Amino acid sequence: MYYLGLDLGGTKMEAAVISERGLLISSERVLTHAQEGSAAVLERMFVLLDAVLSAAHLEAKQISGLGVGVPGAVDHATGSIHSLVNLPGWTNFPISDCLHSRYALPVFLNNDANAAAWGEYIFGNGRGCKDMLYVTVSTGIGGGIILDGRLHNGATGSAGEVGHMVLLHHGERCNCGNIGCWESISSGPAIAKEAMRRMHCGEESTLSSLAHPEKVTAEDVFAARERGDRLAIEVTERALYFLGLGIANLVNALNPERVILGGGVAGVGELLITRVKNVVEQVAYGPAKTVKILPASLKAKAGVIGAAALAIGPVLPNNTFWVGQEP
Ligand SMILES: [Zn+2]
Repeated sequence: MYYLGLDLGGTKMEAAVISERGLLISSERVLTHAQEGSAAVLERMFVLLDAVLSAAHLEAKQISGLGVGVPGAVDHATGSIHSLVNLPGWTNFPISDCLHSRYALPVFLNNDANAAAWGEYIFGNGRGCKDMLYVTVSTGIGGGIILDGRLHNGATGSAGEVGHMVLLHHGERCNCGNIGCWESISSGPAIAKEAMRRMHCGEESTLSSLAHPEKVTAEDVFAARERGDRLAIEVTERALYFLGLGIANLVNALNPERVILGGGVAGVGELLITRVKNVVEQVAYGPAKTVKILPASLKAKAGVIGAAALAIGPVLPNNTFWVGQEP
């Protein structure tokens, strides 16, 4: 059995054909050119999907399902996109109907973080457990919740928007408008912003000798930490402490068997896992602290493999919209 996956992003979109075991048969990535609007992007999406089918020497009728991950909110009742962050022209867009009309496949649509969570659950470090929390830390913080073997979408489809838990009521303003959201403390841009704020206040750091000290990235801050830079150590320790604190709160609420950490910032590896484990051991309640904290295993292809996985059993994602014949 083969599955198609499509990961729509604000900058790039990627499609892939995978086998039921998660083997990547073909994949291709193109620029989204989101500013051209939904009609032009949809056309490019068709070309991209045709290209990966062709590269896999398969026709649409040989594919069991098409999973789609999008950077925003979806309406599970209608298979429409509710709205997308950074992509104009997609509000209330019936994307599942459009894709189903063209390929005559069941279409499974979900938020990209939920898709990545489901991918880890089916093919990655979440395999074999029943209750899993996935948290992705990159330009924002997102997540996906697997409860009793099913992807939990919630009453209005926004379950897993963990980045907007408020952890500091006197913190920074978040992109969502609230103050002190988790992603305004522990995301990549938040780490960079905190380092630059402290340098502006006169604190010394080797980061000030970079070619563009006003454009410091989280990667720069972690690299400075490796060199023993005191400010970088303090800034990253703070972000990692709050990362652990948010996860401990979620562990208390959900009591998962495993927590899987993905995304660019999580790519710093063992340091991040160790810090999160320490905080969870201190803060999580009772037996819930036995939770296993693991890195994501799908890495660069997590988005598109996760999208394809949305269309895959053995346990179909709960409430996920599909069109046509049940696979
Ligand atoms: Zn927020």
